[in-house]
Amino acid sequence: MSELRIAIVGFGKIARDQHVSAIAATPGARLAAIASRNASLPGLPHFATVEELLERGPQIDAVSLCTPPQVRRAQAAAALAAGKHVMLEKPPGVSVSELDPLIARAREAKRTLFATWHSRYAPAVEPAREWLASRRIAAVQIAWKEDVRVWHPGQAWIFEPGGLGVFDPGINALSILTRIVPHPVFVTAAELFFPANRDAPIAANLWLADGNGLPITAEFDFRQTGPQSWDITADTDQGRMTLSGGGRRLAVDGKILSEAPDAEYGELYRRFVALTATGASDVDLTPFRLVADAFMLGKRNTVEAFVD
Ligand code: NAP
Repeated sequence: MSELRIAIVGFGKIARDQHVSAIAATPGARLAAIASRNASLPGLPHFATVEELLERGPQIDAVSLCTPPQVRRAQAAAALAAGKHVMLEKPPGVSVSELDPLIARAREAKRTLFATWHSRYAPAVEPAREWLASRRIAAVQIAWKEDVRVWHPGQAWIFEPGGLGVFDPGINALSILTRIVPHPVFVTAAELFFPANRDAPIAANLWLADGNGLPITAEFDFRQTGPQSWDITADTDQGRMTLSGGGRRLAVDGKILSEAPDAEYGELYRRFVALTATGASDVDLTPFRLVADAFMLGKRNTVEAFVD
């Protein structure tokens, strides 16, 4: 198989923190260029926009879009039109419906469209799914609380329309939830807390269920200081399962069953390389639909203005 030449588009926090090293560690993948208005990487061809990259750049096979979701659809459409495979950071866009033309375009062009959910590749997620598969689940609770000033410093886009606010991390919890519980889930109620000066929520409470009435609650909060929480607990007929650390540690009644270091982005790029071998796509919009439904159903509350 020939090497997949990838350009990163949007060279911000997650591109630097994860994508560069993950591509370097992935057999069959090579970072070939950067397209970003204000950032570059020494030794690599640099372009300000994806259009310039596609017009004047070196030969590439794929783009990895690490820009904010508000600009990703147009970038993905341009890349697919130029015959490139496309990897999308999460969330895949700003509306559920804008994904349909991209999915169709990728299929017609026989190019891969990969809507990533990095948290699903956390090491204890599959062990949790397997453990739950043979238990009777009575209730699920999610606590996903992080300090927005620590994890998203200066990222104004996150509180703009389409930035999702606290659902930017919260959707990671929903991506795990929808992988580990055995039946489809849906939102039954939501409360959204909008800072007086912002257009996206800083906190949210969700109530969900599955077709059998399984109660699921989720608390998302960007105002957390001190210890951070990225935890999912499930009460079952054989004990309380806790998936903590964003999916890195699995315990039952306090006994650790699985714990491993983070390797999420390496797994994402291995999957991307494998998908591009046949041009297959992987776009699961389930977590995104739950967020859209929370916005549709959510009771809106106004809270103290947020100043970064
Ligand atoms: P970020 O630090 O703001 O980086 C995004 C980059 O995109 C910016 O540095 C900027 O680079 C470019 N950009 C911003 N606005 C743009 C615009 N209007 N048009 C074109 N380019 C623009 O954000 P991030 O934290 O890396 O997050 C990016 C995506 O990754 C988000 O969807 C987020 O949910 C996801 N993600 C983030 C994390 C995390 O821990 N931060 C983890 C997992 C996933 P230039 O100014 O150089 O163009």
